[in-house]
Amino acid sequence: MPELPEVEGVVNSLKPVATGKTIEEVTLSTVLEVSRKAGKQAIIKGSELTHFKQELVDAKIIQIVRRSKYIYFHLEKNHKNLLLVNHLGMTGAWFYVHETHEITEEKFRKHIHVIFRLNDGMLLVYADIRRFGEMRLLESEEQFPPLLLMAPEPFDESARDHFLDMSKLVKYQNKSIKEVIMDGQVISGCGNIYATEALFRMNIHPARKVNRISQKRLSELFHTVVVVLNESILVGGSSISDYRNINGEAGGMQHRLQMYGKKQCPHCLIPTKQRVLGGRNSWYCPSCQR
Ligand SMILES: [Zn+2]
Repeated sequence: MPELPEVEGVVNSLKPVATGKTIEEVTLSTVLEVSRKAGKQAIIKGSELTHFKQELVDAKIIQIVRRSKYIYFHLEKNHKNLLLVNHLGMTGAWFYVHETHEITEEKFRKHIHVIFRLNDGMLLVYADIRRFGEMRLLESEEQFPPLLLMAPEPFDESARDHFLDMSKLVKYQNKSIKEVIMDGQVISGCGNIYATEALFRMNIHPARKVNRISQKRLSELFHTVVVVLNESILVGGSSISDYRNINGEAGGMQHRLQMYGKKQCPHCLIPTKQRVLGGRNSWYCPSCQR
């Protein structure tokens, strides 16, 4: 699943090609139309498909920003602001091409679900192999309150204090630290990969209860999460599973991961262990992490 650094990579590759362009035509896949008729909302959430298409035609892309693990397309149409919020789910990817056959990887080319034809004649294509991604067309964030509950960006000055304050809440005190740092209301954008790595670097066992960790250690852990996220942004994210940026490029962070998916601890060389926490597989070293 793409985490903050991967989404940052997608946004950075989208910005130069899509900012300032106007959407002239919107095409949705048959799969989306059929699923809607069956009462399901595959990918496009909240609005009728015809409404989604009509609203987006002639909308100008003013700005593209990352917010936690979401991509925000700020749009303007008839002097009205619109916000298209996209989550890549497990396998969502964007491409900027003349024709869809230019998408070289078949697994993406076979799962194209949304196409925006832009006024430069190019196509902005959203492909999603497993269809866990989401697109939501809003007038503002307020229209979809879960967005307002997200923790500040981890690089914001207020983020560390927000994390420390949240970790004092009763509902988090008895939870495992791994579940808490992966909770988007506590820290924005830290998923399984980076939570695993940060805990390993800090020698903290992922199942350790929050109330068994000092404020000082929690503060250091927060700093480590930020360091790991930044390192990954610099190398273009991790290419575990199906992450691609808009040019079809994968990131390089997977070569730097020390614990996620590893059979052996790189420090003491004993076999790692795995444990499911909050529904996600957690790797840890039973000797280094306490
Ligand atoms: Zn170890």
